[in-house]
Amino acid sequence: MKHYLFCPLCSTKLDKALIDGRDRMFCPQCAWVHYINPLPVAVAYTLNKKNELLVIRRAHEPALNEWALPGGFLEAGEEPHEGCLRELMEETSLNGTIDRMIGIYHREVEMYGSLLVIAYRVMVADDTLTINHELFDAGFFTHHLLPEVRIPLHQQIIRDALTLE
Ligand SMILES: [Zn+2]
Repeated sequence: MKHYLFCPLCSTKLDKALIDGRDRMFCPQCAWVHYINPLPVAVAYTLNKKNELLVIRRAHEPALNEWALPGGFLEAGEEPHEGCLRELMEETSLNGTIDRMIGIYHREVEMYGSLLVIAYRVMVADDTLTINHELFDAGFFTHHLLPEVRIPLHQQIIRDALTLE
């Protein structure tokens, strides 16, 4: 994740100072402070009627070529569950419905910095897939035939989902 070197409001070179208990960059000219907030992400743990789990193989960084749960960044003005279903639709053309929230997680990712991840359990009635350019592959699998998901957060979401009633 890239950090500001110059003020985005007045282009003055930023200085560092201890503000509200953390080292932060601030503008000595206009007093703008670079507060760094997590980016919100929604992840879909998606089941079909046979209770098989949807996993996708990512065609972009981070985690290029890794099997993962579908998801992506929320957009401004969007409810988290809407963003979850939108990402699922964009990536796989699946029309899901939210069943329940699995959990809220925080992760640091080199490419984006701090992420706030909201994971939902999503159900699909029709599991016919069409993948978009963000994916190499996607499919529904029973638990014992699931391709290896190596992203630690996604492993945790799968574990947490399996402990739900
Ligand atoms: Zn400034």
